[in-house]
Amino acid sequence: MEILRTLGIEENNQGASTGVHWNTTRENGKIDVVSPVDGRLLASVFRASEEDYRDVSLAAKEAFSVWRKMPAPKRGEIVRQIGDALRDKKNALGALVSWEMGKSLQEGLGEVQEMIDICDFAVGQSRQLYGSTMASERVEHRLYDQYHPLGTVGIISAFNFPVAVWAWNAMLAVVCGDTTLWKPSSKTPLTAIAVQHILAEIVAANKLPEGLFTLIIGSGSTVGEQLLQDPDVPLISLTGSTRVGRHGAQVVASRFGRAILELGGNNAIILTPAANMQLAVPAIVFSAVGTAGQRCTTTRRLIVHESIYDRVKDVLVKAYGSLRIGSPLDERNHVGPLIDVSAVAAYQKALEALQEQGGTILCGGNVLSGKGFESGCYVEPVLAEAENDYPIVQEETFAPILYLIRYSGDVENAIALQNDVVQGLSSSIFTENLREAELFLSAAGSDCGIANVNIGTSGAEIGGAFGGEKETGGGRESGSDAWKGYMRRQTNTINYGTQLPLAQGIKFDI
Ligand code: NAD
Repeated sequence: MEILRTLGIEENNQGASTGVHWNTTRENGKIDVVSPVDGRLLASVFRASEEDYRDVSLAAKEAFSVWRKMPAPKRGEIVRQIGDALRDKKNALGALVSWEMGKSLQEGLGEVQEMIDICDFAVGQSRQLYGSTMASERVEHRLYDQYHPLGTVGIISAFNFPVAVWAWNAMLAVVCGDTTLWKPSSKTPLTAIAVQHILAEIVAANKLPEGLFTLIIGSGSTVGEQLLQDPDVPLISLTGSTRVGRHGAQVVASRFGRAILELGGNNAIILTPAANMQLAVPAIVFSAVGTAGQRCTTTRRLIVHESIYDRVKDVLVKAYGSLRIGSPLDERNHVGPLIDVSAVAAYQKALEALQEQGGTILCGGNVLSGKGFESGCYVEPVLAEAENDYPIVQEETFAPILYLIRYSGDVENAIALQNDVVQGLSSSIFTENLREAELFLSAAGSDCGIANVNIGTSGAEIGGAFGGEKETGGGRESGSDAWKGYMRRQTNTINYGTQLPLAQGIKFDI
């Protein structure tokens, strides 16, 4: 495939080191990367061994001792070059994201644009790693805090944003003076390899230590587990399911490491009688079926006031009927494939459970076959009626299934339903009533990390801190002051006087 060659990837023969640290073992078997678009084998990638892991971890550790001393704005200059290289490769890398993950070409390109944007953001951030100066209570003393690099940051990423989430973490981490060790999802290793090639050129051109960016490809239970347990990795940023995140958090905590956890969501939109339906309907449909329901911020629950419920239901059934399902590379299609056949099985299982628990499917629910659907990964988006307390509604099913839930009375009741799940990632309300909107955003409102008014739940801008509460893990990445998570804070007190006054007025005469 031409795009693989453009990105420096040889088909069916991946694994050798190309001057940057990653898998070198050839004896550990291969991961076949099959495209959900048409079922073709894109390439096979050698699995890393435990020894490969130790090599890359050591390389990252050694690079840190050099990199942490480089002035932060100079580190920013390297990130600027990475942003430019991504601009050059945007089309090829965006297309590979689509082929490997199955999202639309527009979204694949958008994902690379997000990488470019976070590079720009991180370049600016490299001159703004601010600490504070506090007023000391002691005479002739200065008190301040400063932020130092932390070490190697382990980045474990999910298949659905195969490269953007890495960039959110890695670009901030490197301007903060850290080195990075990336374990991508074994469902999407090719885009990671393509990025590693792009980085390799910049590392070589600037004569930087090779371990600045390292990559390890293998399963979660092998190299992923090694990474979680590695005492030389003070911070693990883990994006994935709550199941994997819960385990990762425990392993990292047991060695007193830090974790940034970006886990599953169960995102809801509230539609009140004061909603503007012109805005709400396209937002709901895009948020629920975009990326075939495989965004952590996908809308999974729609909580609708009873007075408008039937009307909303009719409009949505009609809108779902007009969705075109097919190759994500064809821009006329709205819905592409799920990542693999195991995701299709999870979709089918969820629909069975829904019906057993009393839910009704209003439309969709079939797995598509025949011409154009050879991969077996295309499913019809589902609109279903359900209750918020059904066990299946309480879970995140990573597929395009939207549960319609009715509420009555005041908006407080809708907010209570929206909060009544274990996850806390993204939420939104459609209303033109100021009181409802402000209540939703208040301390008594949505309990999620992201709360929106009059836009859907899915998607986010890099300028804000991204993440969620409760079983979504509590991590924050990307914009605002998320950079602080990648550094260690040090509080400094300097006595420039000739006395030794103690804090809190304590006297100690000797
Ligand atoms: P997953 O949990 O199956 O895998 C995530 C990553 O963890 C992969 O790289 C996997 O190889 C690795 N892993 C698995 N077992 C491991 C172990 N024992 N040790 C270390 N690593 C291990 O998730 P997925 O199917 O790739 O992605 C979908 C999930 O990710 C959904 O739940 C989605 O909501 C979530 N997600 C969350 C965010 C967010 O920002 N909150 C963003 C994207 C995806």
